[in-house]
Amino acid sequence: MPASTDVLVVGAGPAGSSAAAWAAASGRSVLLADSAVFPRDKTCGDGLTPRAVAELDLLGLGDWVRARSISKGLRMCGWGKSAELQWPKGSFPGVGSAVPRTELDDRIRLNAVERGAVMAQGAKAVSVETTDNRVTSVTFKTAEGLRTVNCRTLVVADGVKSTLGKQLGREWHQDLPYAVAARAYIKSGRSDDPFITGHMEIKDPAGGFVPGYGWIFPLGNGEVNVGLGSISTKKRPARVALHPLLEQYAEEQRKEWDFVGEVRALRSALLPMAGSVSDFAGKNWACIGDAAACINPLNGEGIDYGLEGGRLLAAMLDEPDLTQAWPNELRTHYGSAFSIGRRVVALGTQPGVFRVGGPLALRSRRFLNVLLRTMGNLITDEDKDLVARMWRTAGRVSMRLDQRPPFS
Ligand SMILES: Cc1cc2nc3c(=O)[nH]c(=O)nc-3n(C[C@H](O)[C@H](O)[C@H](O)COP(=O)(O)OP(=O)(O)OC[C@H]3O[C@@H](n4cnc5c(N)ncnc54)[C@H](O)[C@@H]3O)c2cc1C
Repeated sequence: MPASTDVLVVGAGPAGSSAAAWAAASGRSVLLADSAVFPRDKTCGDGLTPRAVAELDLLGLGDWVRARSISKGLRMCGWGKSAELQWPKGSFPGVGSAVPRTELDDRIRLNAVERGAVMAQGAKAVSVETTDNRVTSVTFKTAEGLRTVNCRTLVVADGVKSTLGKQLGREWHQDLPYAVAARAYIKSGRSDDPFITGHMEIKDPAGGFVPGYGWIFPLGNGEVNVGLGSISTKKRPARVALHPLLEQYAEEQRKEWDFVGEVRALRSALLPMAGSVSDFAGKNWACIGDAAACINPLNGEGIDYGLEGGRLLAAMLDEPDLTQAWPNELRTHYGSAFSIGRRVVALGTQPGVFRVGGPLALRSRRFLNVLLRTMGNLITDEDKDLVARMWRTAGRVSMRLDQRPPFS
C-alpha cells in the first residue's frame, strides 16, 4: 500500500469503485481499499434498471453488462393478474439487466484499476485521523499488520453499516423509513426470461397479507435471484420472518418459474433509504452509496445511485469544503424523488393500502406505466411531459413539507 495518495477510497462496491474509476481518470493518484478479497458476494437482488445501465455505459461497461443478461422491462404481478411493462422511452437506455454481485462488483473494481487506481484487498479500515473535520490519514488492518495511508481526500464507500462513516460522525436516522430484504439463488428453466418480475401480493404462512414485495430477477446463467423485501418505519416496524417467508415464496413460484432444487445462499440485510443520514461529509471527506443512504425507497435500488454518486463526487474533488457542498449536491439530484418516495412507502405500511390499492393499480396499464417510470426514478430534468412536470412539482412540495429533508 502506498504511504500517501491524492484520493483514498474505502470500500470497492459499486459506489467506491465508480469514485475510484472517475478520480483515476482525472489523473489523480487513487488507492481503492476493501476489507474483502474479490470476487466477493454482497446480499442484493442484482437488478439493474436502465438508470444503472446508463451509468455502466459511461464507465465503458455497456457491452459487458448487455452480454450478461438483458431485461426489456418489468412484469408486475398480484391478485391473479400480471402486466408486462417495457422500460420507458426517454433519457435512459431501453434495457435493464441483472448480474450477480460477485461478478458485477469485480468487473467495476477492475475498471477502476484499468483507469489507474491502485487496489488493496484484504485491507480493513480500522481508524481515521482528523484535524478540524479534515481527514489526514486512515489506518488499515492487513495481513502484514497495520498500515497508515495519508490522503488529500477520503471517499467513504463502506456500505450500509459504514463503520468508518460512524467514526467520522455520520448518523443514520432509523426513525425514517428503511427496508429489510432477503435474497437467494435458485436454478430455473426461465433464467433467460426477458422481464424482471415483481410481486405485490405477499402472504404469510397463515394467509395474512404482508406489506412487502417479492422479486424474481433472471440472471441468464441458469439461475434467478429470488427475494423479498418489507418496509419498516418507527411506527410500523417490519415484523416479518424473511427467511421462511422467502422459502415459501420460492415454493409458490416453483412451477411457474420451473425451479430446480433448493434455494441457495439465502441472506438478508438492511437497506438505508432516501438520504436518511446527516453529518456524512466533512472538509475533505464524504460518504457515498449506502453509507449516504442513497437507495431509492420506491424500488430498493442502490447500485445506480452508488455509481452515480461516485461519479458526482469525483467531479467535486477540487471543492475546498465538502461539508455542505456534498449534501447539497445529493439533494439537488435526488432530494425531491427521495422525499416523495419516503411519503409513498410510509403510506404503503398503513394497513389496507397495498391490499386495496394493489388490485386497483393492476387494472390500469396506463397507471402501471406511470408507476414504473416514477418508481424507477426514470424521469430527468429534460423530460417535459405532464407526468414529469407533476412529479417534479410534487417533489418540490414534498421537500418543503419535510421536517428533515433528504441528506440533512
Ligand atoms: C436484499 C437486498 C436486495 C437488493 N437489491 C437491489 C437490486 O436489485 N438493485 C439495486 O440496485 N440495489 C439493490 N440493493 C441495494 C444495493 O445492494 C446497495 O445499495 C449497493 O450494494 C450499495 O453499494 P455500495 O458500494 O454503497 O456498498 P457495498 O456494495 O455494500 O460495498 C461496500 C464495500 O465496503 C467494504 N467495506 C466495508 N467496511 C470496510 C472497512 N472498514 N474497510 C474496508 N472495506 C470495507 C465491503 O467489503 C464492501 O465491499 C439491495 C440490497 C439488499 C440488502
